Amino acid sequence: MTYFQYKKYIAAALAEVSGEYAAYEAEKATCHLFGLDRRALSLAMREEAPDKIKEAENIIARRKSGEPLAYILGNADFFGLNLYVTAACLTPRADTEVIVERALDFLGGRSANVLDICTGSGCIALAIAENSRADVLGLDISPDALDIARKNAEKCGLAGKVRFEMCDALSAEFEGRAEKYDLIVSNPPYIPTGDIAALSAEVHCEPMLALDGGEDGLIFYRRFIEILPHKLKEGGAIIFEIGYDQENALRALCACAGLPCEIFRDYGGNVRGAVIKP
Ligand code: GLN
Repeated sequence: MTYFQYKKYIAAALAEVSGEYAAYEAEKATCHLFGLDRRALSLAMREEAPDKIKEAENIIARRKSGEPLAYILGNADFFGLNLYVTAACLTPRADTEVIVERALDFLGGRSANVLDICTGSGCIALAIAENSRADVLGLDISPDALDIARKNAEKCGLAGKVRFEMCDALSAEFEGRAEKYDLIVSNPPYIPTGDIAALSAEVHCEPMLALDGGEDGLIFYRRFIEILPHKLKEGGAIIFEIGYDQENALRALCACAGLPCEIFRDYGGNVRGAVIKP
């Protein structure tokens, strides 16, 4: 089989489970199978490929069972970075890239210190560090996620600009910390507990710890709105990812706390984030 035929075969096999992403995923899987980047694959397309049919079938079977491609391949692209990903962290989502864009717009070219709460794979922290002059601290409660985040900092050559620490953002210990930041970002767990069962097979492979935002999905936002304004330097900002249906809830929480709140959308047109500038 040629490389092209592998890619075509995988795309057809994934059509049902991956829908409009089947061709993209097939390309990623083919690159992974043969250890090629996209450019090398596109140059080799018509050549005969080594026999990797068993490995290809294995990828197809796992993907068809609902496992996200990022977990199968062990990596994912986010904001131009290629990051290690395991089932210990949420798979970086393209929709989350708008959070990074907002953060970079706010920071501009100045040096700054940034806090990323619930960092997971470190994707937001690393994308901000890569594209600004900021130093970033990423926090997470999960030691396994922090392990991946630290490996990602090394992989991206950003270990000098980004540190990761274990910390429970809901704890009194976190509240008591004295450090202040120019910008605080977070993509916390925000799915209401009762909505989790209805989510896709892909999401069910992801850590509950990264998804479950408590009974109404707002546990983290409630706490953040209470304590994060005290952790900002003068002129600082807070940027959160929020769920597509959480605009009114966020506005209400901010109004109660007397905080201005700007809501923004992702490129799919869905509500995706909130900017708070106390
Ligand atoms: N956006 C994710 C999803 O829809 C949820 C991420 C989160 O809870 N932070 O599955």
